[in-house]
Amino acid sequence: MDRIELVQGDITQLSVDGIVNAANSSLLGGGGVDGAIHRAAGPRLLALTRTLGGCPTGQARITPAFDLEARGIRWIIHTVGPVWGTDPHADGTERLGYRQEDNLLAQCYVNALELAATHGCRTVAFPSISTGVYGFPIRRAAEIAVGHVRGFLARSAVPERVALVCFSAADADVYREVLEPLDYRSSVLVELPSGGGDKK
Ligand code: ADP
Repeated sequence: MDRIELVQGDITQLSVDGIVNAANSSLLGGGGVDGAIHRAAGPRLLALTRTLGGCPTGQARITPAFDLEARGIRWIIHTVGPVWGTDPHADGTERLGYRQEDNLLAQCYVNALELAATHGCRTVAFPSISTGVYGFPIRRAAEIAVGHVRGFLARSAVPERVALVCFSAADADVYREVLEPLDYRSSVLVELPSGGGDKK
């Protein structure tokens, strides 16, 4: 299934119909990928997300892409990943799917993909949700991301393609290991001197 693409780079530099933001529950912006997306989309994004009343963990909200529309991005899908370590009954060694954080992270992917599908996104890009400041172990998160994106694509023709975007080469290596048994594509995003971004 070559509908999954692994991309290493900055998600705001992609030309896809929808990009997913790893937001926090206030939807008022923050650091990491959230900050990068707000900077790239411009102040109209915050003006709109202020009116949304936040978003619970695991759920998703969709907004226009504002200044990112110049790049061809139409939608930003904001989802709130779980903070790792919030399940009081877990010690971190449980098998996948046991912890509430696993299920909340899976919901982020599925709810974002459902919004993308209902808004006609043919291509969608995800950052590695929860694996930055929120501390979710990268390998475990990659398995959840890949598993649930595959599951969704198996039952839905839209989106046609999903990019899993890793900012660091180390994270991309982990995703590559998880994707290895599958059919997938891989690319590194390069920033052109002109300021434009393109896939190589
Ligand atoms: P969270 O709070 O959900 O953990 P973070 O933004 O802290 O969100 O991190 C999520 C992931 O996004 C991390 O792997 C981080 O390296 C990555 N990231 C940060 N900036 C960007 C960007 N511009 N494009 C793609 N990924 C990014």
